[in-house]
Amino acid sequence: MVARRNTADYGYPTPDIDVLMQKALEVTRRLTELYGASAWSQKDPMSMLVDILLSHRTRDEQTAAAWGNLLKQFGSWEGVRDAPTSEVEKAIANVNWPEVKAPRIQAIMRQITEERGDLNLNFLCELPVAEAAAWLNRFEGVGPKTTACVLLFSCQLPLLPVDVHVHRVSGRLGLIGKKVTADNAHALLQALLPNDARAIYDFHKALLRHGQRVCVYEHPRCGKCVLTDMCDYYRTIVK
Ligand code: SF4
Repeated sequence: MVARRNTADYGYPTPDIDVLMQKALEVTRRLTELYGASAWSQKDPMSMLVDILLSHRTRDEQTAAAWGNLLKQFGSWEGVRDAPTSEVEKAIANVNWPEVKAPRIQAIMRQITEERGDLNLNFLCELPVAEAAAWLNRFEGVGPKTTACVLLFSCQLPLLPVDVHVHRVSGRLGLIGKKVTADNAHALLQALLPNDARAIYDFHKALLRHGQRVCVYEHPRCGKCVLTDMCDYYRTIVK
């Protein structure tokens, strides 16, 4: 027998988009009040790209240490690009999968140099969002999350990154359906937000922090949460 597919699971859990938009704004407002607004990053797009490529499944402190090690040891991104891969791997040994990340970062750097003549990605900040996203998204290992992180954090272009925390918290709150993948959540969640980099950044940071501190993967701390009255998951556990 073929299981009946609930289409709401694969998109928005309610057809009323206005309600979801209001909910996304209110979630951002409450969590930003709780955790405070985040300052913009000072990293240029190339530096941010390296940071995000290092950060996959790795804690923030370890990512920051590995990023710093690269510049300390090789002096510049050009130095990282031209270094023996085994040396780069050693410099980032504290992140997860250095043996994958080292050759991948160098391959992307070489491809960028071939196309652009150098490792300066500042030109992306001057492009229309869709064009900048399409340019970055072509590289092996650069998906929608990495692309959005670079363009939002460094260029302040309005593109929402959906990481594991944003994905999990959005799903529990009922901003997206239960079976929406993180990749598909980018467009669905962004459509609920104003087309404004600061508003998108605040939403991303608010859900990220909440996912790290309260709405954690195992056993969310609902007793300490300021969103219980708007949370679909909470409603299912207090029935
Ligand atoms: S009520 Fe619980 S599940 Fe809902 S957002 Fe808060 S911590 Fe997460």
